[in-house]
Amino acid sequence: MISRIDMRGSLPEDLRDVLPRAELDVEAALEKVRPICDDVRHRGAAAVRELTARFDGVEIASARVPAEALDRALAELDPRVRAALEESIRRARLVHRDQRRADVTTQVVPGGTVTERWVPVDRVGLYVPGGRAVYPSSVVMNVVPAQEAGVGSLAVASPAQKAFGGLPHPTILAACALLGVDEVYSVGGAQAVAMFAYGTEECAPVTMVTGPGNIYVAAAKRLLKGLIGIDSEAGPTEIAILADETADPVHVAADLISQAEHDTIAAAVLVTTSPELADAVEKELPGQVSATKHSERITEALSGKQSGIVLVSSIDDGLKVVDAYAAEHLEIHTADAAAVAARVRNAGAIFVGTYAPVSLGDYLAGSNHVLPTGGCACHSSGLSVQSFLRGIHVVDYSREALAGAAAHVSVLADAEDLPAHGAAIRARFDWRVPE
Ligand code: NAD
Repeated sequence: MISRIDMRGSLPEDLRDVLPRAELDVEAALEKVRPICDDVRHRGAAAVRELTARFDGVEIASARVPAEALDRALAELDPRVRAALEESIRRARLVHRDQRRADVTTQVVPGGTVTERWVPVDRVGLYVPGGRAVYPSSVVMNVVPAQEAGVGSLAVASPAQKAFGGLPHPTILAACALLGVDEVYSVGGAQAVAMFAYGTEECAPVTMVTGPGNIYVAAAKRLLKGLIGIDSEAGPTEIAILADETADPVHVAADLISQAEHDTIAAAVLVTTSPELADAVEKELPGQVSATKHSERITEALSGKQSGIVLVSSIDDGLKVVDAYAAEHLEIHTADAAAVAARVRNAGAIFVGTYAPVSLGDYLAGSNHVLPTGGCACHSSGLSVQSFLRGIHVVDYSREALAGAAAHVSVLADAEDLPAHGAAIRARFDWRVPE
């Protein structure tokens, strides 16, 4: 069901190339989404409706979800789901509130200060996936950091569902209502990102689009980046587990399966020093997979080239492997897991020990589950309050403080052959560089 790569002995030099990874051709998807985005740009709401009919198989009269639908979804929400969502929101708020940054003023010289002022973006479009699975948890993970950052205007888009008369899934609507979001659109895929970026008759343009999604969502975000700000590319989910002989194979197998459940191209990778654990996990997988609801999807994900078990000689080598892989989610199941976790450099989020599984992080740890995939964790972070803030430098110098800098500015300006820069300083001092 799952392939094995033996890296005991020496690690290959081209580690990144030999590790299991999904072949996600975002470049090829770019060619597919370009006409979709152009269509929305030129024909607005009519294009959004037609694309929804084509890709989601449902005719919608308007993409904007009426307020009554949001109220109804909340009123009809299963009380147990409501309680769980409320707790998820409460915990996420605790963590994200602590991420708020204070403005910092540095006195560079007497009379000369630079303040870094953190200002939220004005308006964001938050994407909540809804193709194969529905993700009310992604509503929480998008909306809470944006609200805690102080973003003034928030809109959510999620695919129109045929089964629900062209509205997004009712649990998604209820989650929006719980969070006080009243601007919701039943649009998915690249057309949702384009609607947010260009605006339509129904939806004012946004300054930033965040949220996870499939390859078309990722490609549209990449295509329209610049016109809009985006978070990191959060594509098909990945779990890597670094484990030694102390790990429980039942837990390890269950966690690999839990992430494979997202998508046929989801990646599940076990890196272990213990061949006995590898054998036990392989033995455990078929029984657990066949007992679960989405066994077909999971089997495809686990047997795909993006998943596998990697055998290494030592935890040090295991750390090199997981750092090269830079997984979206990394679990550590070793003796002294916290110490091993502290040595990890590249991961979207790290889950320490057997009682911090990724499933907890998906819903209720308080951490954010919108995380970089495809190796992007080596340069990008998951969604946070910071994602929605811009640090603006505010420069405030007195006449005396500027006089103290004038000679150096003039020299540097001349060195760059930009004499007008120096002149702009001298103009304030009767065209002379102050002594
Ligand atoms: P989705 O909402 O991302 O995509 C569905 C949309 O894709 C549809 O509305 C449709 O418009 C569009 N689409 C489908 N086929 C198309 C085609 N051939 N051409 C153009 N557009 C097309 O939902 P999904 O497909 O279920 O994907 C969700 C993804 O998000 C999964 O891969 C999951 O693993 C991932 N995810 C990632 C994170 C993270 O933080 N990285 C979190 C949650 C989910």
